[in-house]
Parts: sequence; structure tokens; C-alpha cells
Amino acid sequence: MRKIAIYGKGGIGKSTTTQNTVAALAESGKKVLVVGCDPKADSGRLLLHGLNQRTVLDTLREEGEDIDMEDIMREGFGDTRCVESGGPEPGVGCAGRGIITSINLLESLGAFTEDLDYVFYDVLGDVVCGGFAMPIREGKAKEIYIVASGEMMALYAANNISKGIRKFATTGEVRLGGIICNSRKVDNEYDLLEAFAKELGSQLVHFVPRDNLVQRAEINKKTVIDFDPAADQANEYRKLAQKIDGNDMFVIPEPMTQDRLEEILMEHGIMD
Ligand code: ATP
Ligand code: MG
Repeated sequence: MRKIAIYGKGGIGKSTTTQNTVAALAESGKKVLVVGCDPKADSGRLLLHGLNQRTVLDTLREEGEDIDMEDIMREGFGDTRCVESGGPEPGVGCAGRGIITSINLLESLGAFTEDLDYVFYDVLGDVVCGGFAMPIREGKAKEIYIVASGEMMALYAANNISKGIRKFATTGEVRLGGIICNSRKVDNEYDLLEAFAKELGSQLVHFVPRDNLVQRAEINKKTVIDFDPAADQANEYRKLAQKIDGNDMFVIPEPMTQDRLEEILMEHGIMD
């Protein structure tokens, strides 16, 4: 079972990219569990055709420890399984600790069954510090993909996340599987992301184009794969899924200085 976590700057497209990739894997016959690690609890919305899932932490609060798997797990598109960790009551408690409580509970309930090919953790937050490093720190996720774009802040976040991965990789098993570009139509974006990934000692896994079909599918509470399976964008997610499925490049990333990041942006990112 491959244990994958998706990180990236807030709003970059982690949940959308994760669910479309998962839908493509499911379509090709893979068994996948998605664990949402975001208090927004929207990690399964497109797979489940709506935001109606009770979170693990809400269920724990309301019913105590005596929880059945059916209370917290839903089946979505292509028999994918979806769980939302949820969050603490606003202003109280640590979201990161809540995530680990949820994952531990899932383990004790036997959610990580032998037949699963993949677990995907969709993690909130653009810094791998504090609570949101938990899935990596505790060895729950072994393979990280960072969603980024050619925008400076997305690359800045991706570099910071790499610092966090490096910290835990040197003492544990977690590795960076690559960078996924979720395009923002920045000039020369493909080259920029390729150069950035190379500088980290990693790879650009796939370049996902920006397409309004993603939003149209989202309003219909579906992945693109589900909403319009014949669309070009659906094929892009299938390609991304195939590349992840066949990936064998797992590295301890080598994050760069701010100066070097800016140099790469100047060299590749700005067209004259
Ligand atoms: P958060 O950090 O808040 O959890 P996120 O990284 O999970 O955010 P999403 O919620 O997946 O980001 O995406 C943010 C918005 O970007 C969504 O409205 C989504 O439809 C849109 N989006 C994502 N990818 C694409 C794309 N390739 N083309 C067009 N729109 C996209
Ligand atoms: Mg999200």
C-alpha cells in the first residue's frame, strides 16, 4: 500500500488535484482511501458528490470512542473510500494533534485494509511545521507530492515544504516523489517548474493545465473524470495518475536559499 500526502500552498489546488488523480486511479482499477486532513473537510467532496461527510473528530466528540467504521467512512466515485479527519472546535485545541488522533483511530478500526493500493492524505497548510507536519512526522505518509505553480509564493511555499520533508526524511522514511504543476498560466511556467524541481533534486511529475472545466465540474460536485470523462483535462489527470503509479524517483529534497529561488525565477520565469 502506497501512502501518499499532497502538500502545497493554500488554494493551489491540492484537494481538486488529489480527487481527480484518485478518480483516475480508481477508474484504472486501483483501490484508494482518501483521508482529508483539513478542518474544512472538503477532501472528498467531488468524489462523494457533496459535502455531507461527518468528520472523525465530530463523531468522537458526539459519540465518544465507540465508533464504527460506517460512521466515518463513505464510498465515492469508483468505490473510493473517503474519510474526513475534521478539526478542533474553532479557537480550541490543535488541528495537527486532531489529525493524528483521527489517523490512529482509523488504524485501530482497521481502515487500512490489505486490499488498498493507495492512501492519499490531503493536507491543509503551506508550511510543514507544527500540526500539519504530523502525517510526515509520525510516519503515516511516506511519499510526498507538492502542488505548485509558477507564481512566486507557490514556489516559496514548495521550497519551505521541502525543508520540512528534508528534516523528517533524514531521520525517517519519508521522501519527495515530485512536484505537480497546477498551472496558473504564468509565462514560461513549464520550464520554470522543471528547473525548480531539478534544483530540489526532484522532478516535475506532470504539468496540469488550467481549465475552467475544473470549476464547472466542481459546481456539479464532481471530478472532471466523473463529470466529463472524454475531456482533455480528464486525460491530463489520467496522465498524472499514471506517472504517480509508475514513479520510482523518491528523494530527500535539497531546498534552496531565497536568493537561489529568486535567481531561478529570473532565469526561467520571466520571458522578454
Ligand atoms: P486549500 O489550501 O484551501 O485546501 P486547495 O489547495 O485544496 O485549497 P482547491 O480547493 O483544490 O485548493 O482548489 C482551489 C480552486 O482552484 C478550486 O475552486 C478549484 O476548482 C480551482 N482549480 C484547481 N485546479 C484547477 C485547474 N487545473 N484549472 C482550473 N481551476 C482549478
Ligand atoms: Mg484543500
